Amino acid sequence: MDDRMFRNAMGKFATGVTIITTEVDKQPHGMTANAFMSVSLCPKLVLISIGEKARMNQYIKRSGKFAVSILSDSQKEMSMLFAGQLKDRRNIQFKWMNDLPVIENALVNLTCNVYASYVAGDHTLYLGEVIDLYTKEGKPLSFYEGKYTTVDHLLKNEGVRV
Ligand code: FAD
Repeated sequence: MDDRMFRNAMGKFATGVTIITTEVDKQPHGMTANAFMSVSLCPKLVLISIGEKARMNQYIKRSGKFAVSILSDSQKEMSMLFAGQLKDRRNIQFKWMNDLPVIENALVNLTCNVYASYVAGDHTLYLGEVIDLYTKEGKPLSFYEGKYTTVDHLLKNEGVRV
C-alpha cells in the first residue's frame, strides 16, 4: 500500500478542525490539527496526535500542557494561518484560560494537562486531562478529502435528509 492510498482512505473520515495551543517562555504557539478525539469521561481525557517534525511537539513536551480550540465554520482563515498555509504571519489576539492561550470565538476551548504521551511511528500521541472548558453555539468547520468544508455542504452533497 502506498502513502497516497492510505492518505486518501483516511481523508474519507470527515472531521472537525482544531487549533492546538500552548505557551513556552511566555510565547504563545498554535498549530492546526484534526487528529483529535474524546477518550474518557472519568477522568476526562482527550487525545491529539502531533507529527514528530512539528515544532508544537517540542513546545508541549516543555510546557506539559496544551489547549484545544474547536473551530467554527467562519474560522477557515485561522486554520490556514496555524497550518502554515498563509504567507504572512499575523498578530493574533489570543484569549487566555488557565494561563493557556486559546482561540477567540471558537465553538469550544479546552485546557488540558498532559496525562500521558506515546510515540507512535512518526507522531506523538498526547492524552490531555481536561481542566476547564468553554463552549459557544455555532456550526463547525469541517475537513474532508483533504479540503475544508462545512457540515451543511457535506449533507447537501450527499443528499442526506435530517
Ligand atoms: P509552526 O510552523 O511553528 O506554526 C504553524 C503556523 O502557525 C505558522 O505559519 C505560524 O506563523 C503560525 N503561528 C504559530 N504560533 C503563532 C502565534 N503565536 N501567532 C501567530 N501565528 C502563529 N499536523 C499534525 O501534526 N497533527 C494533526 O492532527 C494535523 N492536522 C491538520 C489538519 C488540517 C486541516 C491541516 C490543514 C493541517 C494539519 N496538520 C496536522 C499539519 C500542521 O498544522 C502543520 O504541519 C503545521 O504547520 C505544523 O506546525 P508547527 O508546530 O511546526 O508550527
